Amino acid sequence: MMILRSEYARPHFRWDELRCRGCNGSCSYSVDGKPLANPTERSLDKLEALRVALGVPLHLNSASRCPLHNARVGGAPLSQHRATSTLQSTAFDIMLTKGIDKWELIRAAEEVGFGGIGVNYRSFVHVDDRGHKARW
Ligand SMILES: [Zn+2]
Ligand SMILES: [Zn+2]
Repeated sequence: MMILRSEYARPHFRWDELRCRGCNGSCSYSVDGKPLANPTERSLDKLEALRVALGVPLHLNSASRCPLHNARVGGAPLSQHRATSTLQSTAFDIMLTKGIDKWELIRAAEEVGFGGIGVNYRSFVHVDDRGHKARW
C-alpha cells in the first residue's frame, strides 16, 4: 500500500519549502529523488507559531541542508540546518521580505521559543531550536 504523506508539514508550510536547496534530489541524502527535509517536530511547531503570531507569509531561504550542501554554503559543521535521514535540523532562515519588520520578527521568534537567533544578516534572520540561547 502506498503511504501518502501530506503536502503540508504545518498549515502554513509545505514540505517542499523545507527541503535542502543544494542538490536537486541527486545526492545520496535525497529521498525518493527529492532533496532531504527532516526538521524536528518541535522546530516546526515553533515556526508555525511564529507565522501565526506575525500574521504574514514567511519565506524561507533555507531549512534542512544535507551535509554536502551545508559544507558547500560554508555552514558550520554542526549547523542546526544540517540534516540526514537520522539527524534532524532545527533551523530556518526567514527572508526579510516586504511587510516584515526585522526586530518584530526577532522579538516574536524569542516569544515562540527559538533559542538560536542570528540577526547579523542583511536579507534574512536565522532562527533555530538548539535548546539554549545563542545570539550572533
Ligand atoms: Zn544533498
Ligand atoms: Zn541559518
